[in-house]
Amino acid sequence: MAKLDGQTPEQARWQAENEARRARQHRSLVDGLEIWSFCPRKGCRRRKSCRHDRPALCLNAFFATMPEELKQYLQLVITARTGGASPAEAGRVARERMIAVDGRAPFDDV
Ligand SMILES: [Zn+2]
Repeated sequence: MAKLDGQTPEQARWQAENEARRARQHRSLVDGLEIWSFCPRKGCRRRKSCRHDRPALCLNAFFATMPEELKQYLQLVITARTGGASPAEAGRVARERMIAVDGRAPFDDV
């Protein structure tokens, strides 16, 4: 990304490195979970991998197909994980909160 007005060279370098790191994380997620199969770009599906410089587009295509209650569940899991919860604990907290609000949680029917 281009240097923004008012940024020092150090800030611009940090921003570029941070964006590159996030792109690597997104690409790893897209490839590891085969999210490329949801991508509208033929190149991602053909290569069975995201090689685009903006892998967040693959993720956005995936999230667009996801049911709302699953999005809510994932958001609660991520919030709990960000707060320091273990994966199992985050899943339990998310499930309990969804049941408290909606009376049910995703996967109850599974
Ligand atoms: Zn893609």
